[in-house]
Amino acid sequence: MPSHSSRIYSLIAGLLVALLAHGNCLAAKSSGGGGMTVVIDAGHGGHDRGGIPGQRIAEKDMTLDVALRLRNALSASGYNVVMTRDSDVFVPLGTRVAIANSYRNAIFVCVHFNATNRAGASGIETYFYSRDSLSLASAIHHYVTGGAPSGNRHVRRRGYYVLRKTTIPAVLVECGFLTNPTEAAYIQTASYRQKLAEEIAAGVSARNSVGGSLSTTRVATGETIPVQPYMDQTKVSSSERRSKRSHKKSARKKKKSSKPASSEAGSSSRNRES
Ligand SMILES: [Zn+2]
Repeated sequence: MPSHSSRIYSLIAGLLVALLAHGNCLAAKSSGGGGMTVVIDAGHGGHDRGGIPGQRIAEKDMTLDVALRLRNALSASGYNVVMTRDSDVFVPLGTRVAIANSYRNAIFVCVHFNATNRAGASGIETYFYSRDSLSLASAIHHYVTGGAPSGNRHVRRRGYYVLRKTTIPAVLVECGFLTNPTEAAYIQTASYRQKLAEEIAAGVSARNSVGGSLSTTRVATGETIPVQPYMDQTKVSSSERRSKRSHKKSARKKKKSSKPASSEAGSSSRNRES
């Protein structure tokens, strides 16, 4: 009997060692580039300029430029990079999702710029849908807002088609408002677009450094990024837009005074998903 139980103990110990080694291996793999695919989605393209009607700067050009810079940054870090488009062509949303879902060990990053009729609106906002995309959204938002002069419009949970239909962790980052004169001036400089790309890349690399359940299996790497509080906008409908009902899920939102934020996101989402 003693020999039998000691064999069981050594078997369990062996399994634990194997599990830990496997965990470390995964962590090491995913915090560097090796083996990980990043599918980069430059918003809009071709006949779809993005933004709102009459917008001077075409969103599709800015998203493509940042996406190409992001490709370079991630490739340099050893990631396998796939683009849903790398030129000025129209790619249906379903195709973008199909491309993303054809990869395993992959994440999906959509690059957009915001627009609204209210010229004063400004800031960065980052969207996710599935819960396993929150750490990626938190990390990207942390870096992009840290590196941008634009305000922080927070992380938001919302059912955009490209986020809802993707089976891999997926994030959509709105890198500022092209309808805001100050932000548009920044965005039109190559150096700022390069900065945006580098901050998104930093977020991709730091996605496993976000505090929370993920950090327990992670080898300490110094900085731990706080998981971002988010606004749950998955229940927003057009009737709620009119009634301006607030969403109780987010305590953050109460801090902000009057904010047609969700309606702006809503209008751009309709443009995007139509
Ligand atoms: Zn867009």
